[in-house]
Amino acid sequence: MALTRSIVDVIRDQAGAQGFTAVRAVRLEIGALSHVEPAAILFCFDAISRGTIAEGARLEVERPPGRAFCMPCGAPVPLAQRYDPCPLCGGHQMVLVGGEELRVMELEVE
Ligand SMILES: [Zn+2]
Repeated sequence: MALTRSIVDVIRDQAGAQGFTAVRAVRLEIGALSHVEPAAILFCFDAISRGTIAEGARLEVERPPGRAFCMPCGAPVPLAQRYDPCPLCGGHQMVLVGGEELRVMELEVE
């Protein structure tokens, strides 16, 4: 709920800065490891955007997969869950590099 509100705030700020008057579509990036349920955002968006510039906008959600850089392997590897071991060497010396994204990527405006 709070998150959906902040998305609408971002759209409003952008509208103020760029001078558009209506938003047709909002492209969101919600990483697979971000703990955010896209369905929950879709569910709240209609109610929260009502009466704002974002009212009636279509939400498009991209889900970048989890990715980590494995130190021992010296390579990026896919990561299904945050604390999974490396699929190549089974180790845990990994740095998360993708999958936690949570942002408004693009607005389709008029
Ligand atoms: Zn590894």
